[in-house]
Amino acid sequence: MSTNTESIKVVVRCRPMNDKERAATFESVVSVDVKLGQIIVRNPRESLSCKSSKVFTFDSVYNWKSKQIELYDESFRPLVDSVLQGFNGTIFAYGQTGTGKTYTMEGTRNDPERRGVIPNSFDHIFTHISRSQNQQYLVRASYLEIYQEEIRDLLSKDQARQLELRERPDTGVYVKNLSSFVTRSKEEIENVMNVGNQNRSVGSTNMNEHSSRSHAIFVITVECSELGLDGENHIRVGKLNLVDLAGSERQTKTGAQGERLKEATKINLSLSALGNVISALVDGRSSHIPYRDSKLTRLLQDSLGGNARTVMVANIGPASYNLEETLTTLHYSSRAKNIKNTPCINEDPKDAQLRKFQEEIARLKAQLEKRTGKKNRRHKRRAGDCSDGENQEEESGDDDVDNKDDENKEKDNKGDYWREQQEMLEKERKAIMEDHSLVAEEKVQLLQEKEKKMADLKREQKEGELLATKIKTMESKLLVGGKNIVDHTNEQQRMLELKRQEIDEQKWKEREMRQQMESRDEENLELKETYTSLQQEVDIKTKKVKKLFAKLEAVKAEIHEIQEAHISARQQLEQTQNELTRDLKLKSQMIDNFIPLEDKNKIVTRAYFDEEDEYWKMKPITRVEHDPRMMNRPQSAVGFRRPLSHHARMAMMLSLDMRYKAENILLLEMDLPSRTTKNYQQPVIAPKVVAALKDALKDEDDLEVDASGFDCSLSPVASASGSIRKPKSGRSRTSKQLNTRTASCSPQNLTSPMYPQSRGLVPK
Ligand code: ADP
Ligand code: MG
Repeated sequence: MSTNTESIKVVVRCRPMNDKERAATFESVVSVDVKLGQIIVRNPRESLSCKSSKVFTFDSVYNWKSKQIELYDESFRPLVDSVLQGFNGTIFAYGQTGTGKTYTMEGTRNDPERRGVIPNSFDHIFTHISRSQNQQYLVRASYLEIYQEEIRDLLSKDQARQLELRERPDTGVYVKNLSSFVTRSKEEIENVMNVGNQNRSVGSTNMNEHSSRSHAIFVITVECSELGLDGENHIRVGKLNLVDLAGSERQTKTGAQGERLKEATKINLSLSALGNVISALVDGRSSHIPYRDSKLTRLLQDSLGGNARTVMVANIGPASYNLEETLTTLHYSSRAKNIKNTPCINEDPKDAQLRKFQEEIARLKAQLEKRTGKKNRRHKRRAGDCSDGENQEEESGDDDVDNKDDENKEKDNKGDYWREQQEMLEKERKAIMEDHSLVAEEKVQLLQEKEKKMADLKREQKEGELLATKIKTMESKLLVGGKNIVDHTNEQQRMLELKRQEIDEQKWKEREMRQQMESRDEENLELKETYTSLQQEVDIKTKKVKKLFAKLEAVKAEIHEIQEAHISARQQLEQTQNELTRDLKLKSQMIDNFIPLEDKNKIVTRAYFDEEDEYWKMKPITRVEHDPRMMNRPQSAVGFRRPLSHHARMAMMLSLDMRYKAENILLLEMDLPSRTTKNYQQPVIAPKVVAALKDALKDEDDLEVDASGFDCSLSPVASASGSIRKPKSGRSRTSKQLNTRTASCSPQNLTSPMYPQSRGLVPK
């Protein structure tokens, strides 16, 4: 196991001017010194002195003429090689949108010359496997995307599903339930990539904007099993992360609202967290590295300061209008150069799939063996019974023939065996049918038995075949080299590649030496110098002071720039914070005004933050303090906070009636209906009527009627004394009226009955 510490390799690639930039005659401000590994950026606003240009040195740099394969061979092939040896490796492309990150990682499909790192690595891996000897490989591919801090599996059928990150002490951070496909050839893995790319564009209204704000990670896991010196099979697992990061430009947040604001802040979060992790790693003073701040940094934890090998490719554009972003990218990448990783080989990890495959195949084979073994024994026994010496000879001679013959024979044997068995059963069935000595019932029973045996036989045969195909499919997933390829060509190609690798290594070394020489030149100049005269010493020292002064100025300018960048970043953060605070206030006010205080308190006491899921969750309610039994939450309709009857749900769906929209707290205010009643007002009665009424309702006990001139025998109630008694019943008024009227009727009218002409008390 290697425990060497090595730095992250940083390479910079400058793309050519595009048509638009050329048409607008933008100036190129970037020059690339490939031999020395330097990028020189000139500020067009300042004079053409050395002060205005900035020099950045990297492990390797590529100009606009660089070819994809050149980049791969020189900078990425060694990393993929180490993945094949069992190291973890990461290649990530960083830079402003439109500078060629996707071009570098994926390239142009269907153009072999312009294929990017990902397809070139497919080629590399499968060619390596086909040339290997005495090794067994298993290659798996996964493809995921981080968008708005949410992980999406680009190979899953359900694109809406979000995935979670999990951590295990032995294997580190991984994505739970991420689908991975076993691929057996270059074509298969290319197909996986294409499916993922298609899914990447689905669901995004603007693909350009989406890809510039999301991080795409293609993961290839290569497992290799080889017989070790100890005679045991050892498995090495290498994981290659190929990362196309979101655009590094600052997200302009003018007018960003709601979802867009959320998106902008989250994208910033992932990239700024990456920046913070890099700073913390380079700083060396901080013991805490903020990996947990974002999904991206957690996933890349191994690759940044961990046990993986990492190459970062920084993409820049040459045009003057991109100057600020180009400088930011170069500063960022320069810092990343100083990150130290400690790569180590993953040998025999617990979760190696290859081991599981091998074990499963062995288990299935044993199962099949057991089946066929049992049958063969039966077969032998039967053959012995038949006293056919030939058969025995054939079987005993099995050990001498080679494997292939063995296999074929086994197959033939199996086929024969099934055929024989069937024929025998058939024969027996016929014999029973023809046997007249048996009673019909016995016959039926025996026949049924035979039928059952035949069905069992067929089932067994089917199961055996199923097992065999299962073994075959599993075995086909494990790749072994040395097949189908002429060894001679292999050897020559291998030599050619070794030579190319040597040349590339030479180039790296040469560049490194040049860089070292240049920095040493400046330091050692003074030591070597011997002065012949004082004047000469003064001259030379003045020159040196001038040079150092220029350097000092450059450093000062850089500090100033970094400070300015910090200030603007802080201002942006403050602006975001203000917007978020405002958002928070709205929510708080809603809670204060619409949620009862006791409910709010209940929620606050029960809520806790789940760090793994990054989600607020509710602790379960316990009925009694120390009782582990949980109180069952009432069954509620999905999505609602309280149980709802079927009727209520239907009414909610069908009508606009607010009555059933119980969950919508904002619509709680009721619409009051308009009034339909009036205040009571006493009726107004004319004074004349009041007087009449009063009069009428007067107590009539002492009412005197003069009936002296009236001899009437009509009224039985008229007393001799002439006074009329007021009846005690409630109908006093009627009788009174009647009596009064009776009293006033004239003697002439006595013959014909007299009826009142109008109601009331007014006499006619
Ligand atoms: P990014 O992924 O960084 O947003 P792209 O990879 O989509 O950028 O590149 C933007 C455009 O520039 C594409 O049309 C691509 O073909 C072109 N391009 C980028 N780099 C190069 C290069 N080195 N040579 C030729 N064309 C390039
Ligand atoms: Mg892109």
